[in-house]
Amino acid sequence: MAQLIDGKAVSKQIKEETAKEVLALREKGIVPGLAVVLVGEDPASKVYVSNKQKACKACHIESFGYVLPESTSEEELLKLVGELNEDPKVNGILVQLPLPRHIDENKIIHAISPKKDVDAFHPVNVGKIMIGDYDFLPCTPAGCLALIDSTGVEISGKRCVVIGRSNIVGKPMAMLLLHRNGTVTICHSKTKNLAEICREADILVAAVGREKFVTADMVKEGAVVIDVGINRMENGKLCGDVDFDAVKEKCAAITPVPGGVGPMTIAMLMKNTVTAAKIQNGTL
Ligand code: NAD
Repeated sequence: MAQLIDGKAVSKQIKEETAKEVLALREKGIVPGLAVVLVGEDPASKVYVSNKQKACKACHIESFGYVLPESTSEEELLKLVGELNEDPKVNGILVQLPLPRHIDENKIIHAISPKKDVDAFHPVNVGKIMIGDYDFLPCTPAGCLALIDSTGVEISGKRCVVIGRSNIVGKPMAMLLLHRNGTVTICHSKTKNLAEICREADILVAAVGREKFVTADMVKEGAVVIDVGINRMENGKLCGDVDFDAVKEKCAAITPVPGGVGPMTIAMLMKNTVTAAKIQNGTL
């Protein structure tokens, strides 16, 4: 039976450290602030936004919530982003994705000031990550990295396989593992011999979005398995991209879903907001 990588415990520790840092900043008159913008009625997005606001409270970060109707136009949203860019109380801006179809997500992401882009989705920040000289790491991959580190397993020199090549998870995850001297392979929907490649992985990260996609025969004995997937099963329960019950018998360490990567994403968002506040106040 594998070591269970406890995302709740690791994220709690990160949030506690962040809260302490925020209290120290508040003593100096710096109050980190995060604007959280939700457009529309997507139920999952509502839950994510509410969890992010709760985390702000726990970390003593000021949160500014903007709940806009589904009918909000692209111009209206761009105007709000422009105002938030100029607002000195707002250090970080998070526009919850996905946006309604009539709004061009890229336009909105590009409009957020890179200095306040705590999701690290702006092309300037993506480029900085590519060259390894960054202020913010994208929250989910950064969370995965912290979970790998929590196992004590050294990344340097290891075979790392990332399944998924999205801009939000797969690509930046691969880049972060590369920065840590992993030998990284990115797999995707057109990859041939996927199982064979996955079986070579000392560290396997699954970000596919398909229930129980990674089966035990795809995993090397003793691997570290990070499951980013959040899938809702027919019975309404959440499940990851990894067939947890079978894979846990084979690997050395594994993240559960829920309670693995999910809470880490939010903890990293809090950390990024504090970093943004420090940079904007010239204390970093
Ligand atoms: P996405 O749909 O943008 O990307 C999925 C990737 O999987 C694609 O790059 C695609 O090439 C690959 N893929 C699809 N079918 C495949 C196949 N048969 N074989 C190999 N690769 C295949 O999704 P995403 O935004 O990267 O998210 C992936 C999963 O992670 C989703 O379940 C999402 O809900 C979850 N997620 C979780 C968090 C978190 O905080 N835990 C954050 C972001 C995303």
